[in-house]
Amino acid sequence: MPSPRVLLSIDYEPWFALTRRYDALRDSLQRRTLDGGFTRQALDPLLDLLGGARTSIYLVGEIAEWYPEVPEKIVAAGHELGLHCQFHRPLVDEKELNQDLNASAGWRAQYNVLGYRAPMVGISEAAYPLLHQAGFLYSSSIYAPSGNLHRKNGIWELPVSTLSLRQRPTQLNAPRHFSTRLLAAGEVPYGSSFMIGLMPSLILKILEQELQAGLSPVIILHPYEIVRPEKFVRLLGRDLITHPLLLPFTLDKSAFLKTLLRHFPVSPLLDYIEEIRLRKTEP
Ligand SMILES: [Zn+2]
Repeated sequence: MPSPRVLLSIDYEPWFALTRRYDALRDSLQRRTLDGGFTRQALDPLLDLLGGARTSIYLVGEIAEWYPEVPEKIVAAGHELGLHCQFHRPLVDEKELNQDLNASAGWRAQYNVLGYRAPMVGISEAAYPLLHQAGFLYSSSIYAPSGNLHRKNGIWELPVSTLSLRQRPTQLNAPRHFSTRLLAAGEVPYGSSFMIGLMPSLILKILEQELQAGLSPVIILHPYEIVRPEKFVRLLGRDLITHPLLLPFTLDKSAFLKTLLRHFPVSPLLDYIEEIRLRKTEP
């Protein structure tokens, strides 16, 4: 196994992706207006905070159209650039996913994008052949205990981490999103920024234990959790009242990130997968 590290990923999306209220808004220019420059302005402070640490940044592709400097800066700073989706909404349906993959083909080829993180960590088994066809090497789009890495139809699946309080699951078929079913099966999806928002100190302890056990956990953060959009809570006001479970996503996680970077080695998911592939081909 490669040396243990935290596989840190950032799903780089507009602040409003969180609310799901604008999933049906299909006009990219209207979405850009709604974003209000946040995805452009948040990048430099985020890259500064990451410093020399390299991560996986899964980009919502239309941001590359709004602000071409965003993917350029991500790559120039040494991070892995991946795809989160072209524009943010659930992509469990294969037809929708296929359209979305086609829409992102241009900039993905330009930057040689190899990794995919499904919106809301929601994917179906039928997605994997599509990802393979579209030139991806891996996906990180289900929740499962750390230490799992599987081949699915030509694609590696490196799950976002859960802590299994009972027996480790033997079946890892998609979908495995954040659900009451997952929780009822005794799996705590601590790699979700929802959990990080609820109990940051406990998550740091879990990460420490995972690394000590030789594992490399995968966790997710979002730009608006690290760099605060202007008037964020006011913008979200109505959604927070009707969907109080959004609250943990709105909490500032910059202190968590700083502590994480101070105490643990981190790397992009792609580095980890490449190391495993190299080991497998060694005599
Ligand atoms: Zn997302």
